[in-house]
Amino acid sequence: MSGVSVSEARASYETVIGLEVHVELKTRSKIFCGCSTSFGAPPNTNVCPVCLGHPGTLPVLNEGAVELALRAALALNCRINQDCKFDRKNYFYPDLPKGYQISQYDQPIGEDGYVEIEVGGERKRIGIVRVHLEEDAGKSMHAPDGSHTLVDYNRTGVPLIEIVSKPDIRSPEEARLYLEAIKSIMEYCDVSDCRMEEGSLRCDANISLRPFGQREFGQKTELKNMNSFRNVQRALEYEAERQTAVLSAGGVVEQETRRFDEATQTTVSMRSKEEAHDYRYFPEPDLVRLHISDEWLERVRGSLPELPLAKRDRYVAELGLPPYDAGVLTADRGVAEYFEAVVACGADPKTASNWVMGDVLASLKATGERIQACPVSPANLAGLMKQVEAGRISIKQARDVFKIMWDTGKDAETVIREQGMEQISDEGMLAAIVDEVIANNPKSVEDYRSGKTKALAALVGQTMKATKGKANPAVVNKLILERIGSPDSGASGGGPADA
Ligand SMILES: [Zn+2]
Repeated sequence: MSGVSVSEARASYETVIGLEVHVELKTRSKIFCGCSTSFGAPPNTNVCPVCLGHPGTLPVLNEGAVELALRAALALNCRINQDCKFDRKNYFYPDLPKGYQISQYDQPIGEDGYVEIEVGGERKRIGIVRVHLEEDAGKSMHAPDGSHTLVDYNRTGVPLIEIVSKPDIRSPEEARLYLEAIKSIMEYCDVSDCRMEEGSLRCDANISLRPFGQREFGQKTELKNMNSFRNVQRALEYEAERQTAVLSAGGVVEQETRRFDEATQTTVSMRSKEEAHDYRYFPEPDLVRLHISDEWLERVRGSLPELPLAKRDRYVAELGLPPYDAGVLTADRGVAEYFEAVVACGADPKTASNWVMGDVLASLKATGERIQACPVSPANLAGLMKQVEAGRISIKQARDVFKIMWDTGKDAETVIREQGMEQISDEGMLAAIVDEVIANNPKSVEDYRSGKTKALAALVGQTMKATKGKANPAVVNKLILERIGSPDSGASGGGPADA
């Protein structure tokens, strides 16, 4: 394919991506012992003989971890295997004190589910092969000079689920959308705090290319070490380009594991197929089979909250919000709850949406706060909106009031009173000022009457200035028009030609 650039060649290949997502479950104690799961404790303080793999100890399954895994699997539309088991995945690594990880191999807790994403305005289903429960490994910390490695076993035995997608993802962008959907669903279900920076949500990817129209998959590579959604997308984009270059030059893609190097924004080989693990799975002999009763399953199913996509559809159908607004408001469960609380206080949904998407989210972004810590309560925001609706303050003033409410935590009523910001809507009070403005600006009046409609704005502006911005512009507009009448017929804003 000489003479064809990689980006041109890429158009002739279909990208096929599958993702494996690890999500740490939000239990207080570990999956097989009573040690704390709290993040950030001093190294090797949340440990005991069970999670350190001492001989003679036995694991005891944490019911709370099973319940969270069940919630996650149901929210991902999986079929639940009510009778399943744990298996040992054997490998040697210093962060794995037992020499094996307790996981689920051929009987995962959930199978055959899906997640819906929206790509270019269209809904698309990404299939989920399985959701299984397992324990996390510890963490190795390599000295920067390479002289030694330290191991922290606090994370050892923290409950995880692994969510394995079908190879239904067709672009790096879809991969990011899928991850965002998974994160949002896990947060809505209160299954995990999904903090990628703390490692409570991690992602590996498989990617291959095939000529459009070919049924068989191409040779895939596995990508690791991507610590943000953006990096997942970048690593996949780089890898799609790399594989395109190999294939279009007549080469063969090697089966290997590659890691994303953030510094160079490229992927580099970690190990080839020859070095791949054989995990020698076998049933975990220290645990009995896991049975999930019908009652338990139904109770968990009944406790699931409304999920992001359903909520989004409801905002459009019932509240009349544009799909864009609904998408922004439902991406984060806390934001959706805040918005719903504002509406529950009697606020108009679209106006509430404008405030939340605008000033609220912008202020949170600027301060780095989460919505749960928002200093303007939903009731106070609704109260501010009512002041605008009642004509006490203009929308422009309301935004200043909002800033003061944000800084002081006071309600709108108090801020307006303290700042003397009340808008003047009283016609009697405004009439005298309007009369004066008209008397002092005969040129503008003349311009307006001769068809230069822009002159009206000048008169309104003078009145606003005279009231220090407190006049209600709609009332001022009306009063001025009552006094100077409408422009000459035939004129349409441009005024007479400069003849
Ligand atoms: Zn322990």
